[in-house]
Amino acid sequence: MSNNLLSISDLTKKETLDLIEFASNFKNEDGSFRKEDLFPDKTVANIFCEPSTRTKSSFEIAARNLGCSVIDFDVANSSIEKGESIFETVDALSLMGVDLCVLRHPQSVIRDLAEYLPEMTFINAGEGSISHPTQALIDLMTIIEKKGSIDDLNILIVGDLDHSRVTSSFIEAISNFSFGSLTFSGHPAMCSSYQEPALGRYEPDLDLAIQEADVIMTLRIQYERFDKDLDLDLEEYKHSYQITTERLEMAKGDAIIMHPGPVNYIEISEAAYQSENSVIRDQIANGVAIRMAVLSRFLSS
Ligand code: ASP
Repeated sequence: MSNNLLSISDLTKKETLDLIEFASNFKNEDGSFRKEDLFPDKTVANIFCEPSTRTKSSFEIAARNLGCSVIDFDVANSSIEKGESIFETVDALSLMGVDLCVLRHPQSVIRDLAEYLPEMTFINAGEGSISHPTQALIDLMTIIEKKGSIDDLNILIVGDLDHSRVTSSFIEAISNFSFGSLTFSGHPAMCSSYQEPALGRYEPDLDLAIQEADVIMTLRIQYERFDKDLDLDLEEYKHSYQITTERLEMAKGDAIIMHPGPVNYIEISEAAYQSENSVIRDQIANGVAIRMAVLSRFLSS
C-alpha cells in the first residue's frame, strides 16, 4: 500500500474490502466508537481549504479516538491568507512534527504535494470536483452493511453529477466490483459528462431511472462550483429530480437512499430523508469508522 491516499485507485479491491472490515471493528453495538490509544506519538493536521462539516469533524474525531494529537489548521487565519503557498505551509507543519495531513483543496495539488514532501503522509479529503476517496469508502461500507454486498445491485445516482467528486470516486471504487447496473439521472446541464458513460446509462426521466433501483444516491446542486449564476426554476427542478416518498414507491421496496450531505431538501424531500429507506445518518456515523481505519492504516505504513 502506498503511504498516501490520494485517490481510490491507490487501493486494490482487497485493500478496499479490508479497510471496510477494519472500519466496522471500530463501531460498538450501541453506535459509539472504540477508542484506542494506538498512535500517541503521531500528529495529524486537518487542512480544509473548502468548507466541511462531516468530513472535517469525523477526521478529527477519528484521529482523537486513535490517540493522535490533532491540529485543526485554521486556513482563514493562517499565512495562506498572507499569500503563502500550500507547499510552504505543509513544509512548515512537517518541520514542526506533523506526520499526516488530511487535505481538502479546491485545486488538484495533492499529488504535487506528495511528491514535494515524500516524508509526509497525505489523505485526500476532497479535491475540487475531482475526487473524494474516503467518501467512496463510506458509501461502499454503508451499502455492504445494508445489502451484504454490491453484487447484483441496481445503483442510481441522481443530481448534480458533473460537479460531484463523490460520484467520480464512487464510480472509480465500484469499477473493481461486479454489480447489477449503474444509472445516472438528473438535469441534462448537470450530467453532461455522464451522457455517454463507459460504466452506466443516463436516463433523464427520473421516474424511469428509479424503477428497480436498490440503491439511490442523491446529490445536492453544488452552486459554488458553477461559473455563472444558475438560472433554474427550483419548483420545476424538484418536480423532475427530487427524490420523494412517492417516487420511492417506484423503486424496490427495500431500496436504500443515500446522500453524502449536506442536504438541501431540493434534491430530496424531508419525508424521503426521514423514511425507513434512508441510510443517510448511517453514512455520517460510518464516516468516523472509515476515517479511523484509514488513519490507522496510513499512520502504520
Ligand atoms: N460533502 C460532499 C463533498 O464534499 C458532497 C457535497 O458537498 O455536496 O463533496
